[in-house]
Amino acid sequence: MQSPIESYLRRLHAELSELRTGRPYQGIPAMAGADPEDFAICLATVDGYVYEVGDADTEFSIQSVSKPFTYGLALEDLGPEAVDEKIDVEPSGDAFNEISLAAGSGRPANAMINAGAIAATSLIKGSGGRKGFDRILSLYSDFAGRPLAVRESIYRSELRTGHRNRALAYLLRSFDVIERDPEQGLRNYFRQCSVMVNARDLALMAATLANGGTHPVTGKEVMGIDSIQRVLSVMMTCGMYDDAGSWTSAVGMPAKSGVGGGLLAVLPGQLGLAVYSPPLNDHGSSVRGVAASERMAADMELHFVRAARMGKSVIRERYDLTEAPSGVRHNDEATAVLAEHGHRAQILELNGDLLFAGAESMVRAVSALPDEVELVILDVRRVDEVGDVALTMLCELRDELAAARRRLVLIEAEGSIADAVATGRNDVPVFGTRNDAVEWAEEWLIAVHGARGLVPDVVQIPDFPAVGPLEPGQVAALEELMEERRYDDGQVIRRVGQKFGGIYFILSGKVATTSTQHGHRFRHATLGAGMTFGEIALGGDRGQSLRVTADGRVQLKVLSAEAIERLEQDTPELALSFWKAVARDAYTRVEQNFREAAVRERDQTLDE
Ligand code: GLN
Repeated sequence: MQSPIESYLRRLHAELSELRTGRPYQGIPAMAGADPEDFAICLATVDGYVYEVGDADTEFSIQSVSKPFTYGLALEDLGPEAVDEKIDVEPSGDAFNEISLAAGSGRPANAMINAGAIAATSLIKGSGGRKGFDRILSLYSDFAGRPLAVRESIYRSELRTGHRNRALAYLLRSFDVIERDPEQGLRNYFRQCSVMVNARDLALMAATLANGGTHPVTGKEVMGIDSIQRVLSVMMTCGMYDDAGSWTSAVGMPAKSGVGGGLLAVLPGQLGLAVYSPPLNDHGSSVRGVAASERMAADMELHFVRAARMGKSVIRERYDLTEAPSGVRHNDEATAVLAEHGHRAQILELNGDLLFAGAESMVRAVSALPDEVELVILDVRRVDEVGDVALTMLCELRDELAAARRRLVLIEAEGSIADAVATGRNDVPVFGTRNDAVEWAEEWLIAVHGARGLVPDVVQIPDFPAVGPLEPGQVAALEELMEERRYDDGQVIRRVGQKFGGIYFILSGKVATTSTQHGHRFRHATLGAGMTFGEIALGGDRGQSLRVTADGRVQLKVLSAEAIERLEQDTPELALSFWKAVARDAYTRVEQNFREAAVRERDQTLDE
């Protein structure tokens, strides 16, 4: 199934393809012919999943997107103090090729503008038998997770025409910011700008920055967290040159653009995103790149202020109906249907925050469920904070599932997610407890996969599982003692605190058991035809523990407390068999509860 994130990216890509302002970079002749129609958007998560739309394989020169990586290498090589002596960390507010050198020291304002970048590249020396540039190239390759290479024609073109950069290099040499032959550093800078990447590479490079320097796919530790912190800080304040302020307020992610049309942005701890589209704005940044970043930041709430809280894995546990059945006892046929098809209903328990990263991993997990899964039951009762992005994704998920004749089901106590998700064009059943959801799912599976009429509307006393072990004559004798009662929708059948009033057999319709906690009424379970209630009041002195109300019209037969007393006096043998049957029935349910508790306990052990 297509993930909602993928469909979102596709829509965004189609929409922004209409954006036709700007022009590919003309400053380097070999780049002037770039196809303005090329357009890719990629998003890589810190656990290594890559979403891509458009021309994600098309290569282009990395240009200034290289600057933060070389700056990081200089920090790793020399340490921050030595690098700071040569390059400051202050936003210049100037264009990328501005001559922003401090009066007196000649120190460039930061490593994201050309002056600072040429200085940073000049700081990289050869080591271990490898030339300075080879070390730069292999660092970029490690960030991308594949070997990258220089496009000679672009390198030579800039070497011939990059007079301003050459002037900058000599100026830096005159201030001793560059201490060696400026030509060497300049060439390496031009070479690093000519390294070819595609949008997927940039997204993974960004995701490696987001992941604290460890590549999400290869697992290689490419750079230390201290350098990453410095690099991302400078990207945040200076990465978008004279556009840094409005970028920070609109997008709020450290980013870097290049005149090749590439742009990457980093959401620390969560993801890297990249856009490729050659036409540039006045700042030398990709027009569609900026537009796509702004849109994604807003639509997916990626701005650092909103996305700050990073959720741990949002999926706490996943299991299907066969592993956690309801307390409802079914006849043999229906039981067989559930054994065969129970795996078609999957329950996913979510916890933590449903912001971008959490919602993304949740929809990815749902999208990856096998096609035979027909009911996706999300238990969101442990979810803390829910971003709008998560609600949008859940709505899309609901519609994608519906389109494939599958269904989303929610388990939620107070209903804020349900309010947003249950009211779309495809309805989403919402339940307050897992047991209710599971009962509903079982009925649904039996109705869809079983022969017709497997869930009976009316159950006669001899067919009740509770009296299963009794002889037919005994059952008939019991039924003699029962009185029939009818209730209308909403009528209370049993109140909390009432003493044992007998055993209630549901012939048709449904009853709901509820309790009040902290002023709220919680629904515990829905009991249907063939089920009994009232027995629990036998235990302890508190009497009836849950309120029982009719859910629609209900028809019951009651073996009252008085009738049972009479039974015990008049026919003790029958009474004994009856109590045996009741006890067996009760323990079947206890056992089911144990099984459910075991699932929960397993969760807790996993959490520790
Ligand atoms: N190689 C280009 C230059 O130095 C890089 C500029 C950029 O991408 N902003 O002019």
